[in-house]
This record gives sequence, structure tokens and C-alpha cells, in this order.
Amino acid sequence: MKKFYITNSIAYTNAFPHIGFALETIQADVLARYHRILGEDVFFLTGTDEHGVKIAKAAREKDKNPKNFVDEISEKFKELKRILNLSNDDFIRTTDKKRHWPAVEKVWLKLKENGDIYKKKYKGLYCVGCEAFIKEKDLVNGKCPIHKKNLEVIEEENYFFKLSKYSKKIENIIEREEIKIIPESKKNEILSFIKQGVEDVSCSRLKENLKWGIEVPGDDTQTIYVWMEALVSYLSVLDYAENGDKLKKFWPADVHCVGKDIFRFHSLLWQAMLLSLKLELPKTIFVHGFITVGGEKMSKSLGNVIDPFELVKKYGTDSVRYFLLREISPTEDGDFTYEKFEKRYNADLAKGLGNLVARVLTMAEKINLDSESQISRLAEDGPLRSRDSEASESRRADSKFKTILKDIWQKDKKALDKFKFNEALISIWELISFCDRYIERERPWETKESQKIVINNLLFALKEIASLLQPFLPETSEKILNQLENKKSEILFPRI
Ligand SMILES: [Zn+2]
Repeated sequence: MKKFYITNSIAYTNAFPHIGFALETIQADVLARYHRILGEDVFFLTGTDEHGVKIAKAAREKDKNPKNFVDEISEKFKELKRILNLSNDDFIRTTDKKRHWPAVEKVWLKLKENGDIYKKKYKGLYCVGCEAFIKEKDLVNGKCPIHKKNLEVIEEENYFFKLSKYSKKIENIIEREEIKIIPESKKNEILSFIKQGVEDVSCSRLKENLKWGIEVPGDDTQTIYVWMEALVSYLSVLDYAENGDKLKKFWPADVHCVGKDIFRFHSLLWQAMLLSLKLELPKTIFVHGFITVGGEKMSKSLGNVIDPFELVKKYGTDSVRYFLLREISPTEDGDFTYEKFEKRYNADLAKGLGNLVARVLTMAEKINLDSESQISRLAEDGPLRSRDSEASESRRADSKFKTILKDIWQKDKKALDKFKFNEALISIWELISFCDRYIERERPWETKESQKIVINNLLFALKEIASLLQPFLPETSEKILNQLENKKSEILFPRI
């Protein structure tokens, strides 16, 4: 059985989850579900990254100790599983001393053993937002180009990781697409970043300046750099410390889903660590963009942060999943407004999908089709063949149905294999419009010879639509299948 290991970036617990993370985790969930449907042995990981200066600071501002602070936030991230209907197989926390810490210690000692960690005095500009040192040449008006905030001058004796030693090798690996970076623009971005020259990175902080983290093994004056240990969570969840069966089975990761702000850490630092550890490299790094709100960056200070909990409460899980997958580009920035959300909801879900399901089932109920033919049998047989005596009209429709179904399944697969969730959904909605047009043309509400065949074809198409929707809208897919089974229509998406 083929395995498929997919991860989210483990979320940083300095604040409650917003829809940007919901997007990432839903994208990963679709891929996990899709690969399960393909019959693969899937392991889907999500979790929380809970150490570092930024979290210690955020906790202090709220007058909380860091552990209580992250416990509360991590719990919220865990709850996403329920509200977004995620199928993750595990959830790792970097404060997990039983699973994560031993793996981090093992990684550190191995990197050291391989001669890739050394100590030196260093002075640099640190951005707490990025949890990284920023080079002078990358500053914009003396500030971090991402966070637009002033930087802290840090002068410490720290441990360094020999990132420079691996940069050429990583450049070649990315160029040859041994690691695929999606989209192409991000691949080019990291390549040009590497070509500008990569320096070694500080991989610890003085403990007196940062207590909230994992201590450097054998040096109680230093704390391990947060990125370096957080990345290890992809291994610690597979029992890396014990070199367990899970590691043998699932490593390397098939897909790391990450945001554009952190893909560099995944494409460079993480790969260098893995090379030093002599572990296989992940196959794909899939990078999504940011969500703006009405064209503005989401931020606490602007008060425009969209809370996925509120959104789900108001519109339901699958509506949120649908909007994020259909409206937001998988790899570019996308925009959220309530207006856009409701427009999509009404047009595609209430009117498009919901209306078709209700119409077809109502017609099937009316002619009491179920007593004469078995809908469940249709799936095995394919669209019902018109028998010799039936109208030639429906015969043509049947072959047309077959052609379009085949075409949609192919488009869906092609789109999903390329992480183009929006395109996959567009093709499913093509099938929905095809069915609508078919109904208008065939007028199956009129009693005539072809009526039964037309409705049978439509019932079959609904089953196909439900199957196609499975990875995207799992609950809706199940509801449609149940309605087909019970031959009873219920409203899927009430108009708003
Ligand atoms: Zn920054």
C-alpha cells in the first residue's frame, strides 16, 4: 500500500486561529482525504508551535505564564478539527515533553555529531515577528520587510548551524525538482534567495534572554532556536527519538503545506537539517498565499481578523470549506468579504448544488422511481442504457453523460494532482450546470416515455457529484448520498 504523509505547518500559538490558517489546514485536509480515496495509507499531521520570544512576550502582555497561555490557544487550534471537519490523524504540540522534546534533543546531538553546530559570538538584528535574524541588506527603511517593525539588536554568544555548507546542494535539489516547490514563482524566489548567498544561522539563544523553549542538550545556558525545534515536529510525531516503525513507514513527507511567510524555513533550513541528519527529503512543499479582508491585510490592530469559529457558526462547515477552496486561489493571495462569501454561497451552494439535488429527488419521488429501479444499482451499471424501444433522445443523452462524467473525473484528478482546488471545484460545477441544462432540455417533469431514463441519469449524476465532492465537502457529500439512499430530499443549503 502506498503511503502519503502530509503536514500543515504547525501553527504558531501567539494568537487564536484566523481564516488564513483555516485555509491551509482545509487545503491539507482535501489532499489527505483525496489520497485516502485513492487507497493510500495517509498520515495527516497538524499541531502547534508553542515556544519562542513572540509567545513569551504575548503571554507576558496578557499577564499569563507561557504554559497556560499556549494551552488555551493550542486547544482552540485542536478544536478546528471539529468545526472544519478535518481528518488529521495526529496533533503535535512542541511543548509535548514526551514526544517532541526527545526528538529535538536527538536531532541536536546528531547535527552536532556531524560537525554542523558550533559556537560563536554574534551581533545581529532580530525580528520577533519572524523569530529570525534579518540581514541589514534586507531591511526596508530600517525595518523588517514583512512586519514593518523595528528590530532588536542582539549580541550574544550562540550556537550556529552550518546552513551555508548545504546551500549549494539544496539549490541543485530544488532546481532539479527533486523537491517540488509549488507554485513555480516560489521555487524561483527561493532559488534567487539562495543564489544571493546563504550564511550560517544562529540556532540558540542565551537562556537568560529566552527561557521559554527547549534547552540545548549539555548546555543549560542556552535555549534552542524556535524554528529549529519546531520543524522537528514533523519527525517527532513519527517517533523519531525511538527510530520507530512510523518513521520507517511514513518518512519522508510527501507534502508540507505552508504559508508564503514561512516557506523559506521549510525550503532551506529544514532541508539542510535533513541533509545533515541523512534523512530523505520531502517531496513537495506547497505554498499558499495570504487572505486579505476587503483588500486590507488582516490584523488585530485593524480589528478585521476573521474568526473561523464565527464563520462556521453562521454559515456551516462546508460553506466555509467551499468558499476558501473555490474563491481563494490555492497559491496566490485572496480576498475575503462577507458579501463575496454570501454571493458564492447563494449562487453555488444554495442555488447551484442544493437546488439540483432537491429538484432531481423531488422528481424521482413523484414518479416513485425507487420502487421500480434501484438507484444504488445505477452506480455499478453506469448511466442507464436506453432500451431499444425508448426515445432516441435519451440514448444520445446517455452517451453525452458518459463523456462528460469521464471528462469531469479527469479534470478533477488533474487539478487535484496539481493542488488546484478551485479548478477541481469549477469542473464539478460544470457537471452541475450540465445537469441543469439537461433538465431544461429533457423536461423530465412531463410524463413521457423518456422520463424515467432521464431521471435515472440525473440520479446517477448526483451520485457522481457526491463522490467528486467527498474530499472537498465531506459532510455535504454524505448528505447527498443519504438522500439518494432514502430517496428523500432535504434542503442542503438554505438561501441567505
Ligand atoms: Zn519580521
